[in-house]
Amino acid sequence: MTATDYVEFRAALESSKFIVILTGIGLSTMPASAVAYRARACANTWQRLDAEEVGNPDVFAEDPSLVWQFYHHCREQVLKARPTAAHRAIAQLSSRPEALKRIASNATLRLFTKNIDGLAGQAHPYDASPSSQPIELYGNIFRVKCTKCGMTEKNTDSPMCPALAGTEKCFAEPQKPVSVIEEKDLPRCKQCQALLRPDVVWFKEEIHHLERAANLISNNCDLLILVGTGLHVAPCSIFGELVRRRGGKIAVFNGQGAHADRDAHFRFQGPCGDTLVKALRMEGEV
Ligand SMILES: [Zn+2]
Repeated sequence: MTATDYVEFRAALESSKFIVILTGIGLSTMPASAVAYRARACANTWQRLDAEEVGNPDVFAEDPSLVWQFYHHCREQVLKARPTAAHRAIAQLSSRPEALKRIASNATLRLFTKNIDGLAGQAHPYDASPSSQPIELYGNIFRVKCTKCGMTEKNTDSPMCPALAGTEKCFAEPQKPVSVIEEKDLPRCKQCQALLRPDVVWFKEEIHHLERAANLISNNCDLLILVGTGLHVAPCSIFGELVRRRGGKIAVFNGQGAHADRDAHFRFQGPCGDTLVKALRMEGEV
């Protein structure tokens, strides 16, 4: 990218009235956080499982022990991670009106994330208003849902139950057989004692808040900023089309896939922590 790209992007920011930021996988896989976030990508690191296998309700029904061990491993990894500069820059814009006003004097901002690691929310200041929190389209690995009564709640316990303790080590020892945990010893609902599952969106399940996001974008958005995700993947492809139809602009900050994002008005390839922070003129602040 050139300096001109940054100047033109900042001009688009300044003239925008309603900005939507959508963050994805590339935000959480930057070397700075080095963390596994969505099940699909994380599964690739566990040699025994095909990427599609763990994030699938049918596999969970057949083998909840295996799936819970996988998510336990992801949770332990994420518990060690911290938000990056890009997370913090986005959190500032979303939660501090004065920070947004400095780069877009008349704009409103809404934040969505495809990531399930909760780091986008963790980057928010403790006193930020709930409406500035990211809307999690694919759920959160630190939320659980009852398979029977539907109860959902936040849960950051490590481990969630005694039987899962230490099972994360099998990810580092692929030759070792995976433990088999009886269903009664897996995480259970406090209300009805039925089996809990991670409250994340699995294969063929509906994305959370999709209609709300699509309505917000088609009615209001004049600048869609994708960070760590491309225009060619769901649901960004839908959102991009909605913005384009109403004459809005699209900016993509992503480590790769610039070719697939050729329809975007602004493309910044490289580590999001560098390109986004520079584009927002927040160097030295986050
Ligand atoms: Zn229940």
